[in-house]
Amino acid sequence: MNRIVLPGATIGVLGSGQLGRMLALEARRMGYRVHTLSPGVDTPTGQVADLEVSAEYDDLEAIRAFARGVDVMTFEFENVSTDAADAAAELVPVRPAGSALHITQQRAREKGFLADRGYPVTPFAKAQSLDELAVGLGLVSLPAIVKTAAFGYDGKGQHRVDRIEDGDRVWGLIGHQEAIIESVVDFTHEISVIAARGLDGEFAHYGAIENIHHNHILDLSVSPARIPQGLADEAVHLAHRVLEDLGYVGVLCVEFFVTRDGRLLVNEIAPRPHNSGHLTIDAHVTCQFEQQLRAVCGLPLGTTASHVPAAAMANLLGDEWAGGEPDWVAALALPGVKLHLYGKVEARPGRKMGHLTATAASQDEAESLVREARRLLAR
Ligand code: AMP
Repeated sequence: MNRIVLPGATIGVLGSGQLGRMLALEARRMGYRVHTLSPGVDTPTGQVADLEVSAEYDDLEAIRAFARGVDVMTFEFENVSTDAADAAAELVPVRPAGSALHITQQRAREKGFLADRGYPVTPFAKAQSLDELAVGLGLVSLPAIVKTAAFGYDGKGQHRVDRIEDGDRVWGLIGHQEAIIESVVDFTHEISVIAARGLDGEFAHYGAIENIHHNHILDLSVSPARIPQGLADEAVHLAHRVLEDLGYVGVLCVEFFVTRDGRLLVNEIAPRPHNSGHLTIDAHVTCQFEQQLRAVCGLPLGTTASHVPAAAMANLLGDEWAGGEPDWVAALALPGVKLHLYGKVEARPGRKMGHLTATAASQDEAESLVREARRLLAR
């Protein structure tokens, strides 16, 4: 199989959301063609791709037909089954490999992988039954968060438990599924490291990015993170180890808590470009999507040097549309503010519709600018 995939070739993307869209935009700029597969039509990725295929992710015949039409395959949606990744891998290179997807798409497997290799993780227990949940709640310190092991993101399938007696209710709420139980971490910051590993093991990263969540969904990212340099370096080092331990090719994101006593705990791994890295589009010479493309195609990784001292990103959820079309003109009148919209037709509450980025001379300035831009959207 061709190790290096040159411009002119076709990139296959499983999944068709905003991550695929931003990858496709970079790919098309660099002269690649892009095909995307998902169950949807007129999707964020489909709108900017050369070909949009509508099929279910478990339709292996459709996945094989799709794979035959591309030169390399990647995914932007980590809940694609490993059967689908394996079926495609018989026909084309799949990067990152299905094995990385397998580990990171299920929290219990991911936690086990990290804990077995000595990474610092949040204290946790696994539960496959109500009895195990009760035992687990006794093992970790309360309050705790119960998270479904599979198919969770953006706080979906997460419930806080303050008393052991709440176990029954939460087991019902999560639908009697395998879960992990984590102590609630007393953190001062949440940070992420977006890093890439090339086909030949080359490493690149964007340093530590600071993340502020609202209702378990990312609300704001600020780069570089306002934490001591030593901690940021340690986080980068841990992300590098994760890439090596997974034998990974592509971009991934490792999310961390910085505890009140100044330690790093790995929260989770996303095997793809990440929401907190969207600011790299406007702030860095090579953004996370071009980096993903380069890694997946076997090209040299690009420099991650930044154009600006600091950047901040604010997510735009469907809620911004509650009062009608947001006031784009007012927000864009602010210097240093950039708008990214994902082409989603329906603005539902909680749905990621786009983001704003602000670049500035300092993190505090970038953060207030992007907050102000988002505030101005409300008429
Ligand atoms: P996750 O989907 O696991 O990344 O969780 C989404 C967000 O919920 C995190 O970024 C935190 O803001 C919060 N969260 C998740 N797990 C914990 C925990 N063990 N302690 C404190 N906050 C948490």
